[in-house]
Amino acid sequence: MSRLFFNPFTGQFFKIIARRRKARKAPTGPRVEEMRTQAREQLPPRLAQLAARYGFSYNRVVIKNNISNWGSCSSKKNINLNLRLVTLPQELQDYVMLHELCHLRHLNHGPEFHALLDTLCADCFPNKNARTLAGQLRAYKLV
Ligand SMILES: [Zn+2]
Repeated sequence: MSRLFFNPFTGQFFKIIARRRKARKAPTGPRVEEMRTQAREQLPPRLAQLAARYGFSYNRVVIKNNISNWGSCSSKKNINLNLRLVTLPQELQDYVMLHELCHLRHLNHGPEFHALLDTLCADCFPNKNARTLAGQLRAYKLV
């Protein structure tokens, strides 16, 4: 879609192109497949370990190739984890998994969700709190 506009200061016409906002697609290729293999090997056992340690149960864990989130949790108690998690330091991987596990009890980011996540993080990471870890995670961009 485009339209011509006239700029009276320059005496020229110019075009404004309105692009439809498209969801960015996650890259694919051999590097992504390498990460996927690694993620399938490493992430589900770690998630199971954390779930057992803190008394959570979920249905399925799926490793996803997307660039919209590090992880997600559905009301059907399925957890999705981004294959790119394997590129993060272990404690940030754990932080994302704890975050998704907390969504099994609170499907929102309300005060109860954060209280639970804070408690788990305090136990899991003696030197860092949930806020610090969230801040560190933000430094990693999903591309
Ligand atoms: Zn969340």
